[in-house]
Amino acid sequence: MPKGIALLVRLIVSLMIDTEFIRKEFPILERTVAGNPLVYLDNTATSQAPMRVVREIERIYTGMRANVHRGVHTLSQEMTNLQEDCREKVRQFVNAGSIEEIIFTRGTTEAINLVANSLGSTFKTGDEVILTVMEHHANIVPWQLLRDRTGIVLKVVDINDKGELDIEQYKSLFNDRTVLASFCHVSNVLGTVNPVKEMTAFAKSKGVTVLIDGAQAIPHLKVDVQDLGCDFYTFSAHKMYGPSGVGVLYGRKDLLEKMPPWQGGGEMISVVTFEHTTYADLPFKFEAGTPDYIGIAAFAKAMEFMNETGIREMEEHEMRLCRHAEEGLRNIDGIKIYGEADKKGPVISFLLDNVHPYDLGMLLDKQGVEVRTGHHCAMPLMERLGIPGTVRASFAVYNTLQEAEALITAVRRAAAILQF
Ligand code: PMP
Repeated sequence: MPKGIALLVRLIVSLMIDTEFIRKEFPILERTVAGNPLVYLDNTATSQAPMRVVREIERIYTGMRANVHRGVHTLSQEMTNLQEDCREKVRQFVNAGSIEEIIFTRGTTEAINLVANSLGSTFKTGDEVILTVMEHHANIVPWQLLRDRTGIVLKVVDINDKGELDIEQYKSLFNDRTVLASFCHVSNVLGTVNPVKEMTAFAKSKGVTVLIDGAQAIPHLKVDVQDLGCDFYTFSAHKMYGPSGVGVLYGRKDLLEKMPPWQGGGEMISVVTFEHTTYADLPFKFEAGTPDYIGIAAFAKAMEFMNETGIREMEEHEMRLCRHAEEGLRNIDGIKIYGEADKKGPVISFLLDNVHPYDLGMLLDKQGVEVRTGHHCAMPLMERLGIPGTVRASFAVYNTLQEAEALITAVRRAAAILQF
């Protein structure tokens, strides 16, 4: 399809998102902050949850709450069914091969810690793990803890001026000691969408295991783990219109089967004696203790919301708002945008002259515009960019063009106050 026509089609598709209708499911968006209508642009940190998620939690608390997998009684069985239905929905959502490959965790952070502790326990001194400079602390610190225990070596891929990974350097870091490459699908600061399929293919051609931190990709992009070819993919429900306290580790079954458990307790065992314990089959081997089964059940409703709305349509809509806001911000004197990758998610990180991001964030809050300020749990990236932090605005499907405008107006007003 010629480029012009493709662009037109995308615009029409994005216009098909009926924000007025969608926003009815998000009553929080009706509230005010400091006397102004709320403009919620901190979706990268946590997106809001639609009423169907809230109602599901209420329905369970008021009619079904019982621990999973432990009872023969009706409530426990109903609850177990709901949890396991969600596992199947997650499987479909990311196109995993089987439900045994879907492990529920507390979030992306715990999912990465699981891999670092379990798979990582098989790494030897001198083995090498490749990370990138744009990683969230969740994909740095677990590997540093492992390094301190085992003596593995961490290697870091740099970025270019646009905030894109240096793929040639990435390839040059592989050698016969490389055991794992672990990188984000989308940067939570720069918005860069990394070429993860190509990066994975390269790593696999060298026999190296791949973990993709999908926390910022899965709210906006269609993810197919089999198509990506990765070994692990991690994400958090609270960034995809779901409840907090729930996340997922997708792992390839043959790998998970070989990996030792990382936490011990109930649910993850087969037989326990004081002499010896055998473990449950996948996925339960990695799910010690009572999971957030109510959160998990409600997460199914969040995925239902995303499927109904259409992930591709959501992405088009969010990117339209993001590009509009970016253009407006660029016209304000003293604004510098961090992250100019050719392929970006709906995130804008910016600074205003040498104004501290907190000061700008506070002035935006006074106008009802909720953005995140600071290092965004990516201190090594901030050091690489030579800045203390940024102001970050990020878009979700319920945001509107008027809200993108409100951001521009609020920054303009703040600039007028701070610069004169
Ligand atoms: N990775 C990335 C890219 C993120 O943006 C985040 C959350 N900001 C995380 C990991 C950690 O997610 P959670 O706090 O839900 O575990």
